[in-house]
Amino acid sequence: MRGGEVMCFSRESFGQLWSGMFKPIQQLLVKGESSCLACGKMISICVPGYSELCAPCYSSIPWITLPRCWTCGRHVGCPDCSRKGGVQRSFVMNRSSVAYSASMRQWLAQYKYRGHESYSTVLSRMMGRAMEQMKQELKSQRITFDGVVFVPLSEARWRERGFNQAEELAKGAALVGWCVGRGRLPLLNLLMRSRHTDKQSFKSRNERLRNMQGVFQALPDAPEQLGRVISESRRTFLEHGAVIRLLLVDDVYTTGSTINACAGVLQSICGELGFGGEIYSLTWARS
Ligand SMILES: [Zn+2]
Ligand SMILES: [Zn+2]
Repeated sequence: MRGGEVMCFSRESFGQLWSGMFKPIQQLLVKGESSCLACGKMISICVPGYSELCAPCYSSIPWITLPRCWTCGRHVGCPDCSRKGGVQRSFVMNRSSVAYSASMRQWLAQYKYRGHESYSTVLSRMMGRAMEQMKQELKSQRITFDGVVFVPLSEARWRERGFNQAEELAKGAALVGWCVGRGRLPLLNLLMRSRHTDKQSFKSRNERLRNMQGVFQALPDAPEQLGRVISESRRTFLEHGAVIRLLLVDDVYTTGSTINACAGVLQSICGELGFGGEIYSLTWARS
């Protein structure tokens, strides 16, 4: 192959919608020579849908193809969910696209802390896989969502970073929608975070719960926002019965305590409107 020539090979066409979302960026990159977002080497083979990455970096993505835990979407055995009398979850299920490996940790850090924005679309596209997975698993139940919500950052973190990675991922999920043909889902900003929490993974279950207490609250206009969306989609809503279904998005699912705390608040917002709330979680990575 001549230098700078770009060769494309065909792969199974997963997440077509997601790659379609970012086509202009993709075409732009394929036309000229470009270097891999992750390793910086020149891209000689273009991976359809992931033109920002070189083939070796793309192949190293630890996709979760078969979640072993139905509830939390973990790819390995899950004592948390299977334990009798174990964790009470406020959400129905979580699905993640990739295992949170050392390289995935690096990619996220490049995005979150170094402000490497190009990762935003790559990560969104990657998360599309988890959405597709969830959709397949829920197919027989004909579940649709009333809106997409995201885990908020604390005010201080927001000021520091200038963006919320969970919100960016949620935008992607809302754009694609849930059912093909239904179009985009409403993106709702319903939650606020009163303070930042320390790393949860090294804490015991009780410490984690205590640490999360009161961290998330509903924004003052949350019931009004959600009420408006529900009344606009009343026809669909009536088909659901008296349950509001929300898709909650975050970057990484570690212990589930963040998702669980947010889901609890979302349920009470639904309750305030006189409905039940079913919360489904979508995260880019599962540790
Ligand atoms: Zn690379
Ligand atoms: Zn589990």
